[in-house]
This record gives sequence, structure tokens and C-alpha cells, in this order.
Amino acid sequence: MSLNASEFRDIDPGERILMGPGPSDVPRRVLQAMSAPCIGHLDPAFLAIMDETQQLLRFVFQTENAMTIPVSGTGSAGMETCFVNLVEPGDEVLVCVHGVFGTRMCDIVTRLGGELIRVDGEWGRAVDPQQVRDAVKGRRPKVLAVVHAETSTGVCQPLDDLAAISKETGALFLVDTVTSLGGMNVALDKMGIDAVYSGTQKCLSCPPGLSPISFSEAAQKALDDRKGPVVSWYLDMSMVKDYWGGDRKYHHTAPINMIYALREALRIVAEEGLETRFTRHRSNHLALVAGVEAMGLAMLVPENERLPMLNTVRIPEGAADLKVRQTLLKEFGLEVGGGLGALAGKVWRVGLMGHASTRRNVFVFLSALETILKTQGVKVNAGALEAAAAAYDAA
Ligand SMILES: *Cc1c(COP(=O)(O)O)cnc(C)c1O
Repeated sequence: MSLNASEFRDIDPGERILMGPGPSDVPRRVLQAMSAPCIGHLDPAFLAIMDETQQLLRFVFQTENAMTIPVSGTGSAGMETCFVNLVEPGDEVLVCVHGVFGTRMCDIVTRLGGELIRVDGEWGRAVDPQQVRDAVKGRRPKVLAVVHAETSTGVCQPLDDLAAISKETGALFLVDTVTSLGGMNVALDKMGIDAVYSGTQKCLSCPPGLSPISFSEAAQKALDDRKGPVVSWYLDMSMVKDYWGGDRKYHHTAPINMIYALREALRIVAEEGLETRFTRHRSNHLALVAGVEAMGLAMLVPENERLPMLNTVRIPEGAADLKVRQTLLKEFGLEVGGGLGALAGKVWRVGLMGHASTRRNVFVFLSALETILKTQGVKVNAGALEAAAAAYDAA
């Protein structure tokens, strides 16, 4: 086979504003950190960077958990890691499903031979804890799992009641924080979370490729007390922790430059401060909603259950879903997401994640959307930008 290498051009996708469900815009500092020299995975300089990354992760997760490690792989690898380490064939696992990512958890539990107890909530609403209480009556599931920020629906799941039910039934509380971490409060120790995974490309504004996980002492004990070995060799945390922990025993080669990126992204979070960051996410969200509603469009999720970093906007009558999103991308360089699963064609998913959660992006999105909808002959009310500005003033 012959190949003319000169036909392949340099990669240059151009500038975008990433306001979809992830990835989000990556700050230049993070990209620059990635371009530092790739050194050996057992080089003392790299080992120090690993330690610092773990220290920063514990800060962002608000935990003392020793086992706090970025798994090599995206958020889904983190999801798989949590279940594969904690679930053995025959173990009962309760999964709350109120969107796409809950269904993915169920798939993994079933593949592992777990006894799935599935609690289905309405897509676009938080799961009612009473349903979970009813489902655990007379049972003792080993794990109770839920998605904190359902990126497919824009719903924020309150965790207090579910943490209490986990505690009462002796289940490990497993939470997906892929989209919530770095954008809203995720305090593992205070909230009673035993196993957690996240992703880098949502509110941490780092490229995709790593999944931070953390196990409480109870989760670690469950791993130590397993009857059989973890069925995934690569994701077996009893081995991975020996590399990230004291022994530095080779397991797999850490994705060196991705770890640089994560360390820098976490450093940026720490510099901003968690509270300041959460407030920024919330105020940009409120302004975006004010603008969208002033236009006459409606949000999918009731006000008190909305996520600050992912806004699901109902597609108005007469608007062509795909055409609107294509025009946003082509003419404004702005990416938003379409609906997933049952919500396909019904909503747009507008992210305000991490570095992309800015006043500028709120105004660019509102004015671009208004312009496009008008071109498509959709009736929109005037005053979206004024409403957004007023929301900032009120905050
Ligand atoms: C994005 C996302 C995932 C999956 O992460 P990938 O990085 O795409 O593998 C899992 N859960 C939630 C809630 C997500 O938003």
C-alpha cells in the first residue's frame, strides 16, 4: 500500500464554543501543560506529579479517601471500574434510573451477573426517595447507585435521602459525578458517598481521557473482602492502587500527558475556589434560563431540580432541531447537544460547564439562538438579553 503523507494536512479544527453536554472548552493553560515533555511513568518527577494530582483530586472531591485515583479511560471507564470492583455475581445492586446514564449502569450490573433492582423515575425529574425505600424493603443490596447530574435530562438528583437509605440498609452508596464535579457541591465525606467516579471533560474543563474515582474505607473493605478476583484485569483497583499508592508497582503505563492536563485543570479549580466556582455556574445558569424563558421557550426540568451546568431547553414548535444546531455550529462556532434517547428531537442540551460557564457564552448563545429561530419563522419574544442581564443584576 502506498500512501502520500503530504496529503495529510496539519490538524486545525478551528475555534469553537463548546456549550454541549461535554467536552467543554479547555483553557489554554491546560493544553500548554499537556505539551510538557513526556517522561517515564516511574520517573521521580512524574511520581511527584501523581501525588499532587491525587492531593488536588481529594480537595475537589472534598474527601480524605486514600484511594482517590484518576482511572485511565473516560467517564464510562470510571463507571465500569466502580461496579466491576464492588459487584460479584449474585450481589444485589439497586440502580436509580432517570436518564441515559442510569440505564448504562444497569447494563454493567447485568453483565457482571449482579441481581439488578431497578428503580425507574420519570426522565426530566429527580428520583423520588420513597420509591427507593419501597424497593429495598426486606432486601439488603450491596450497592445503591445513582447519577448525581443526569446529563441526558438536566436533572440534579438530591443525595441526602438516598445516602440515608444506603446507610440504613448497609449498602455502599455509589454516585456518578461525571457532570457535577467542579460545577456544584460534591463533598464525598460529608455526603456519605462510598464510591464515586467522574470525568475530566465536563466541569473540570480538561480533555476527555481520565476518570477520577474515589473509594471510602467501606468500599475499600468490600474490595478487599471479595470472594473472587475482579473480572476486569485493567480496571482492578486492588492492582491499580499499588501503582498509585506506596509500592509504585507497574500495572499499566499512566497516560503521562493526560495526567499533566488533569493536574493543571484541578489547579485552576483550586485557584478559583470551590464556592466561587459553584456560584459562577449557578449565576450563568440563572441568566441563561431567564433569557430562554423571556424568548418564550420552556425548560424541561422544574426549577428546583435543574442542574447549573446543563440546561435542557424544550425545542419550540416549528423549529427544526438539527438545522438549528447545525447553524449554531456553522455560523457561530457554537456547539450544543441534541436530546438523547426518549428526549431526542424534544430538547436541546445547553452546557455551561467549567471554563465555558461565562457571561459571554450566555449572551452569545441567546443572541445566536434568537437570530436562528427568527430566520426559521419561529415566533420568539424580544428581550432575552435584557432578561439575562437583569438576572445577573439580581444575583
Ligand atoms: C458524560 C457522562 C458519562 C460518560 O462519560 P464518557 O467520558 O463519555 O465516557 C457518564 N455519566 C454522566 C452523567 C455523563 O454526563
